[in-house]
Amino acid sequence: MPIERYRRLSRRELLALIGAGGAAAAVGCARDEPAAPAGTAGPAESGAPATSPASAAPIIRTILRDVAPGDLGEGAVLFHEHVSLNNQFWIDMNLERLIDPAQPYFMEDMDFMVAEMQAAAEDGIACIVDGGHTDMGRDIEFIRALSERSGMPIVASGGYYHEPTFTQHVYDRSEEELVEEMVRDAAAERWGAFGEIGFSSPSIPAERKVLRAVGRTHLRTNLPIFTHTANGVEAEEQLDLLEAVGVDPARVVIGHLGYPDVTVHADLCRRGAYVGFDRLGGQPEADAAQVPMVLALIEGGFTDRVLLASDFALPADTRGNGGPGYGKTITRFVPLLREAGVDDDTLRRITSDNPRRFLAFEPPDANS
Ligand SMILES: [Zn+2]
Repeated sequence: MPIERYRRLSRRELLALIGAGGAAAAVGCARDEPAAPAGTAGPAESGAPATSPASAAPIIRTILRDVAPGDLGEGAVLFHEHVSLNNQFWIDMNLERLIDPAQPYFMEDMDFMVAEMQAAAEDGIACIVDGGHTDMGRDIEFIRALSERSGMPIVASGGYYHEPTFTQHVYDRSEEELVEEMVRDAAAERWGAFGEIGFSSPSIPAERKVLRAVGRTHLRTNLPIFTHTANGVEAEEQLDLLEAVGVDPARVVIGHLGYPDVTVHADLCRRGAYVGFDRLGGQPEADAAQVPMVLALIEGGFTDRVLLASDFALPADTRGNGGPGYGKTITRFVPLLREAGVDDDTLRRITSDNPRRFLAFEPPDANS
């Protein structure tokens, strides 16, 4: 999605906005202890059962297999990208100008996408989460074949996007019916997360119904949730709604929080949620504007709540078309953090530990 114009705030301004300083001591989620070692899912995130020897070990559910977080291999995990969209998606979004309707979308070209995944692996990407679902033109069998052929572990997601792509089905079904459908489809299609689940600005009743249904389906499946906001607006409303149906904020990423006028980041972190900077590696001015925001959160004690990704969607960004490729979060944005003084251990926690902890879950007892 195109990004709104950015105004760059200084780190001092941002620290003032998020109230950092006093924040770190006051927040339960401001953990400065060492990150969970590779192979664990950060028991504090998922509740006491993760530490119990009697409970199932947390896994990350990729489209091909369940994987222990430490067995994904070295490297970054991108929590919100797209590897399967089609032309109809852009038509539904009123963004036809971005496509050539005479050609299939590049994400429908298997050979092209296999090369993109392999280029991402060379850039240090260990796993990619696809944020699409059926109403966005996501093709689950394409994702399965892409992962098989490229060797890239891919987590498929499910749910519904937001108003521009909603079919009549979403309006016609009750919340309860949507829950039952998603419980069934999550198992049948091997979803590893719910996402991206969107709100318009302002949100409409059908979007709120979908998000409540996703929250309730999470309670049945334990799959983590990541959201789409209109550049951070409605972020608090989304978390309020998920909490109201019983979702632990530590299982949620509120997405698209790269907009500097949003001052809710620290509050979301204090409540236990992750904050997603997930449109990275694009316009240099947009990246530059987000560096002080991430620095402010690190300094505020929220390192373990920050997640990075690019929401990859456009052909010009592909390696095959001369762009930076799916690894652009790591190859373009992370170096800006390093130049700004963020040390390698902190970068590893953000790009590697945090997404693994977010994605890891204990599958509910199959008999329950
Ligand atoms: Zn989005």
